[in-house]
Amino acid sequence: MARYTGPVCKLCRREGEKLFLKGARCYSAKCSFEKRSYAPGQHGVGRRSKLSEYGVQLREKQKVKRIYGVLEAQFRNYYFKATRQKGVSGENLLKILESRLDNVVYRMGFASSRNQARQLILHRHFTVNNRLVNIPSYLLRPGDLVAVREKSRKLSAIHESMKRLKEESMLPWLRLDKAKMTGEYLDVPSRQDIPVTVQENLIIELYSK
Ligand code: SF4
Repeated sequence: MARYTGPVCKLCRREGEKLFLKGARCYSAKCSFEKRSYAPGQHGVGRRSKLSEYGVQLREKQKVKRIYGVLEAQFRNYYFKATRQKGVSGENLLKILESRLDNVVYRMGFASSRNQARQLILHRHFTVNNRLVNIPSYLLRPGDLVAVREKSRKLSAIHESMKRLKEESMLPWLRLDKAKMTGEYLDVPSRQDIPVTVQENLIIELYSK
């Protein structure tokens, strides 16, 4: 599946907030948003214009796509899947996105960003239920066991990310065994356990027009 390969920090500046797409850099003084919090482009400096209702919904959709690193076609498929499920469609959409393997690898702390998680998965460093999986968009099910492959356990990129990791601060729907470099996707998260500040209902309103 294709992915966005352009300048990443511009995405934060476009959305007017930090989306934490670059791992450690996002927490340092090198963060572009800290230096230039205005929108990118020639007319980016100055006040942001007032958005229409459609504009607000569109920005919310773009923000979520960018946070999870998903392009339009795949995102729309997730929307259709979410609307077919029981419950609140917007929450279902977030739950699907959270169950992606690249997101879970990032949330477990094996990677410092979803982008890095995606790359590590593509390079065949992870297994799910003891089977190699190199598909970042692979959707996990409750009870699935994610592990760093035996021969990848010395990889410095993974160890660097894991340094910042605390087992006790793990999200309640994930369990991590730092020593064994494994983790379990325990359950589908409830909305309050998904730490993203978005109004997912706006995305549903946008697509259902
Ligand atoms: Fe966004 Fe991170 Fe770049 Fe800062 S460093 S602008 S938070 S991607």
